[in-house]
Amino acid sequence: MNSYDAIVIGYGPCGVSCAVYLKRYGHNVCLVGKDMGALSKAHSIENYYGIKSISGADLFNEGINQAKGLNIPVIDDEIVSIEYGDNGYIIKGTNNIFSAKVVMLALGVSKNKFNLASKYEGIGVSYCATCDGFFFRKKKTAIIGSGEYMKHELEVLENIIPDLTIFTNGNELSFKPNDNIKIVKEKIISFNGDEKLESITTESNTYEIEGCFIANGSAGGFSFAKHLGFMLDGNYIVVDKDMKTNIPGIYAGGDCIGGLLQVSKAVSDGAIAAQSISKYLKK
Ligand SMILES: Cc1cc2nc3c(=O)[nH]c(=O)nc-3n(C[C@H](O)[C@H](O)[C@H](O)COP(=O)(O)OP(=O)(O)OC[C@H]3O[C@@H](n4cnc5c(N)ncnc54)[C@H](O)[C@@H]3O)c2cc1C
Repeated sequence: MNSYDAIVIGYGPCGVSCAVYLKRYGHNVCLVGKDMGALSKAHSIENYYGIKSISGADLFNEGINQAKGLNIPVIDDEIVSIEYGDNGYIIKGTNNIFSAKVVMLALGVSKNKFNLASKYEGIGVSYCATCDGFFFRKKKTAIIGSGEYMKHELEVLENIIPDLTIFTNGNELSFKPNDNIKIVKEKIISFNGDEKLESITTESNTYEIEGCFIANGSAGGFSFAKHLGFMLDGNYIVVDKDMKTNIPGIYAGGDCIGGLLQVSKAVSDGAIAAQSISKYLKK
């Protein structure tokens, strides 16, 4: 396990800015990310200070090179859980385990919404196995997804819920689940029920299902950390003016805290968070 003063999760504009400042303040910081985030979709950025025009991909690469140039470890991994540790936090990725006194969440906007299911959020549909698994322990329960994030959520649910069905929604599973888990590979057509979720219909069948965990896509956003008890405003993490969340030692910034969803604001959030984290670490 690699130990750091601070781990910054997300290597977009907010995360890189935070890591660069932390490094320059003299802290042992590491930067972890899984993809280009929002910048992958930005063809041309023309409103950032001092740059006439740059593609999102080029700006992303400049940021990563800047961090690497300062000898900040830049690690490609998808973080799937954060737990309390003896000296701060234990952060698990699909390939690495880290420990850090401080965690900075620079995760961008959550992308694992499942629109077909939105009507049943809170009345059968959940996005957090650790938070809500217990409530479905006696119910026929589905988990939707096919990749690493789903695998992690399944590991939590398997210990609580005996009747579990994976719906891959037309995708191939990236791993082999235990034999007692049912698997439906067809595409989902609808979620059904009057007052609450009662069934899921696929291309050729309807399955009686009372609980459903959405773990499609990846752990974008903060679903993997929700069980720590963050204060939220809708889908955004609530922070104070110093980018502190309500959990001691966990900070957040950039698109995942809402406000102006722009590079300039993400970079500023990262810098403010770094200053605040540095004070916390020096105490
Ligand atoms: C089409 C489009 C055009 C845009 N055009 C402009 C523009 O012209 N000007 C402008 O200023 N802004 C623009 N933006 C917005 C800008 O891209 C974002 O505001 C900015 O990238 C936010 O930075 P961020 O660091 O908060 O998040 P992001 O850049 O989204 O970075 C999030 C990071 O978190 C990582 N991450 C998330 N979950 C995990 C996990 N579980 N484990 C590990 N890593 C994780 C991702 O891999 C990524 O590295 C545009 C956005 C889009 C979509």
